[in-house]
Amino acid sequence: MGPGVLTSLGSDVLRAPVGNIHLVGTGTAVVWKGYMDGAVRSGQRGAEEVITSLRG
Ligand SMILES: Cc1cc2nc3c(=O)[nH]c(=O)nc-3n(C[C@H](O)[C@H](O)[C@H](O)COP(=O)(O)OP(=O)(O)OC[C@H]3O[C@@H](n4cnc5c(N)ncnc54)[C@H](O)[C@@H]3O)c2cc1C
Repeated sequence: MGPGVLTSLGSDVLRAPVGNIHLVGTGTAVVWKGYMDGAVRSGQRGAEEVITSLRG
């Protein structure tokens, strides 16, 4: 992909839960995609999503 593709075509879609499935991984990170930093950030975001979902 060239520069700007993910930001212009809606990278939010990559992070949107599908039913009870919550998507994490460095490719879904807001910053530092492709790096450990992004992987850890996405894991924290996913965990928060699941906790929020379980609390209703
Ligand atoms: C050679 C190399 C060097 C790197 N060096 C650095 C570095 O110096 N610094 C840095 O910040 N980043 C580095 N990275 C990038 C970093 O390793 C990744 O960004 C990070 O590991 C991504 O973590 P992740 O959890 O998103 O994905 P992954 O670590 O890829 O984890 C995904 C997991 O899902 C599993 N999986 C896949 N499909 C399925 C399935 N269908 N069912 C069940 N499990 C499945 C895989 O086996 C894997 O264990 C490097 C990457 C490589 C390849």
